[in-house]
Amino acid sequence: MNKNALSSAYIHVPFCLSKCRYCGFNSAPSPGTEEIERYCRALEKEIRDPESEIRDLETVYFGGGTPTVLSAGQMEYLISALAKRASFDRGAEATIEANPETVDLEKLRTLRALGFNRLSLGVQSFDDNALRFLGRAHDSRRAMEAFEQARRAGFDNIGTDLIHGIPGQSLAQWENDIRKTTDLCPEHVSAYSLTFEPGTEFSARRAAGAISPCDEDLEADMFLTAREMLAGAGYEHYEVSNYAKPGFRSRHNLNYWHCGDYLGFGAGAHSHLGGRRWANAEPYAEYSDKIEKGGKAIAFVETLTREQRLFEAVFLGLRMPEGIDAIEFRSSWGLGPLAYKPEAWNSLASEGLLLVEQGNPRLTDKGMLIADSCLARFAP
Ligand code: SF4
Repeated sequence: MNKNALSSAYIHVPFCLSKCRYCGFNSAPSPGTEEIERYCRALEKEIRDPESEIRDLETVYFGGGTPTVLSAGQMEYLISALAKRASFDRGAEATIEANPETVDLEKLRTLRALGFNRLSLGVQSFDDNALRFLGRAHDSRRAMEAFEQARRAGFDNIGTDLIHGIPGQSLAQWENDIRKTTDLCPEHVSAYSLTFEPGTEFSARRAAGAISPCDEDLEADMFLTAREMLAGAGYEHYEVSNYAKPGFRSRHNLNYWHCGDYLGFGAGAHSHLGGRRWANAEPYAEYSDKIEKGGKAIAFVETLTREQRLFEAVFLGLRMPEGIDAIEFRSSWGLGPLAYKPEAWNSLASEGLLLVEQGNPRLTDKGMLIADSCLARFAP
């Protein structure tokens, strides 16, 4: 992927069947048809904006929320808006996130016919008690059925998302989730650790003492178990929470992690172009209002300083087990990675959290387990 080309577009659909208890994303239960139609018209207008600098797209990602709450007609409307503004050839990666309750064989066939060639399916767990606890709208039977339907619809690149560290979840339950996942043989697996995001029901219940986070040692065991079981099933670990069969890494996410440029459309969507970053208003009604009135919904703009960009390059680079390629880093930034905040590298290395091989730094297994706190040491 050419990291300098503006090659990635993200389209945000903030609607879901219901709000999951742990969800900190910009999403809300679906409003009525009229409001959804208004949102789609606003998206179309934003995509058509001649000032947006879309060119040839190598990756397109419809995320949310749950994009598959939109009807086939609404999806077609948005895809054709995008196709009028940008070219994406047959080699482009076109991903859509889906939740099991919102798709059936017919809808999946339509999505495939519209050009989506990658499906990211929000499974989260195969344990029905855990799914109910999380507030998910589906059960495990529906998740497996949706997966099979996606295969029958022609998706040969499917990712499934799983969550570990759910309060009350045992290591055996987590192993069962991974086993059931590998039995399905998706091309990509994301295994996220449950976080308590501000403003969520889970966060309020935690503050009230009604639920407690998973024990740290158990959480570490779950991470290592996932890595071992997924490696055994032929998945490469290529980012803290992401695994893929060879050739199936998410190109869209790799562009983010390599600090590439991207344009985001929709409520709360972020864009990054040449060191400038901006984001749209988050509430979908405000987004639609702003686009209707003035064609733009930008709520926040910043020009990143060199210090911020260096931090992001280190932060994102170290989230990948392969670490940072020192030659590439030097050619982008004019200095080797280890010359940026040497004290942070030294402290990580002295604690066994970092390895440097031929000048290329990467986190050790121990470092990966506490990646966020390791990476915080580089903050400007
Ligand atoms: S389906 Fe996803 S985006 Fe929607 S509420 Fe649940 S976790 Fe959030």
